[in-house]
Amino acid sequence: MRILIVGAGIAGATLAYWLHRAGHEVTLVERAPKLREGGYLVDFWGAGFDVAERMGIVPELRHRGYVFTEGRVVDRAGRRIASLKPAKIMQSGEKYVSITRSDLASAIYAALGGAAELVLGDTVASLADQGDRVHVVLESGRSDDVDLVVGADGLHSRVRRLAFGPDADYERYLGIVIAAFEIDGYRPRDELVALMHAEVGFQVLRVSLRDDRTLVLFSVRHSGDVPHDRDSQQQLLRAKLAGGGWETRAILDLMPAAASFYFDTVSQIRMPSWTRGRVALVGDAGACPSFLAGQGSALAMVEAYTLAAEIARCPDHRQAFGAYEQRLSRLVLSKQDGALGLGAAFAPANGLQLFVRNAAMKLMGLPGVANLVMGRSFHDAVELPPFTPGRRPPD
Ligand SMILES: Cc1cc2nc3c(=O)[nH]c(=O)nc-3n(C[C@H](O)[C@H](O)[C@H](O)COP(=O)(O)OP(=O)(O)OC[C@H]3O[C@@H](n4cnc5c(N)ncnc54)[C@H](O)[C@@H]3O)c2cc1C
Repeated sequence: MRILIVGAGIAGATLAYWLHRAGHEVTLVERAPKLREGGYLVDFWGAGFDVAERMGIVPELRHRGYVFTEGRVVDRAGRRIASLKPAKIMQSGEKYVSITRSDLASAIYAALGGAAELVLGDTVASLADQGDRVHVVLESGRSDDVDLVVGADGLHSRVRRLAFGPDADYERYLGIVIAAFEIDGYRPRDELVALMHAEVGFQVLRVSLRDDRTLVLFSVRHSGDVPHDRDSQQQLLRAKLAGGGWETRAILDLMPAAASFYFDTVSQIRMPSWTRGRVALVGDAGACPSFLAGQGSALAMVEAYTLAAEIARCPDHRQAFGAYEQRLSRLVLSKQDGALGLGAAFAPANGLQLFVRNAAMKLMGLPGVANLVMGRSFHDAVELPPFTPGRRPPD
């Protein structure tokens, strides 16, 4: 089949890899003028890690990534309140790495070995599902008829909007905005330690990266309009974090000079179905669990792998789409439900939430307690389907 994937991120590149292995002809359309670099870190673990193993990219992920030895919660004066061991908490043992979202996506893309056509700096302008094919027109004017279209274009998916309807029907804003940026030469540095400081309304997270870079992540309570330009976004952060303790002020002062600046809402995408006709969604586009879930990238890979495996197995795309949804909808829903309660940990709404959050962090640092408290939420209740390569073996 000829399959067009919109979005060359984690979900899109994973899907392209597996569809190619099943013998399909794949085109990836990416809006950015080049594959993204830098950006925020994701903790990568769970069933997505198993997909990465099947793709043979784990050594590359370990090479580019970080294994943090400590998550340290500090108070306004920088004193340690709690100390967490990420790998142990996630019950993942060796199957855990922190890596920038773009490094994960580019390692996946590299595994493809150029087997899919990549169209950069373009996106889909219109889609017409004609029953036996989809007529696609890109913004550049290029048009094509393909067998299937898959939207892997993230939280603000255009494919979703074109094929399923307006964002408001599916997006659930969780009352928090997030900002991530990198500062060069920041001091102090704490190697392989993620430092977290929360006050009422926000959390500041700082991690030291290679090449003397420091990554900062703000998660901030916000109701009302969300600004769209960088200046207004930074103004909002300065207002919300004014008077913040620890290193908040120094970091805010350096924010305008940051090379890259990411700002977005923390939202979930909840849909009754991820497929319609010959169009399907994978990753955040159809099932974003939000940043609070800490597992969106792994889920994106699981979804992409499962969709490709079902397309490879089923004689008809309708069967494949049905099996894809049936296998994963419960898992996704449970991750989304689990994330809803975590907003207080990343941006406590009041003094009581802050107190409970800090007390919980202290408890989570005690041996065995994290697993007892978080229990099943760290377990991915999913069995990856077998992959049966199709007509054409990989080149
Ligand atoms: C601050 C933050 C921290 C996070 N931490 C974690 C974590 O610790 N662990 C974890 O597993 N997950 C984490 N996540 C979630 C994770 O990043 C996402 O779930 C994951 O990136 C989803 O992958 P995706 O490929 O579906 O979407 P994206 O990674 O968003 O990729 C979408 C791609 O589509 C492209 N695109 C967008 N629109 C268009 C368009 N119209 N046309 C063509 N291309 C388009 C984009 O440029 C991008 O390349 C975090 C998210 C945030 C925001």
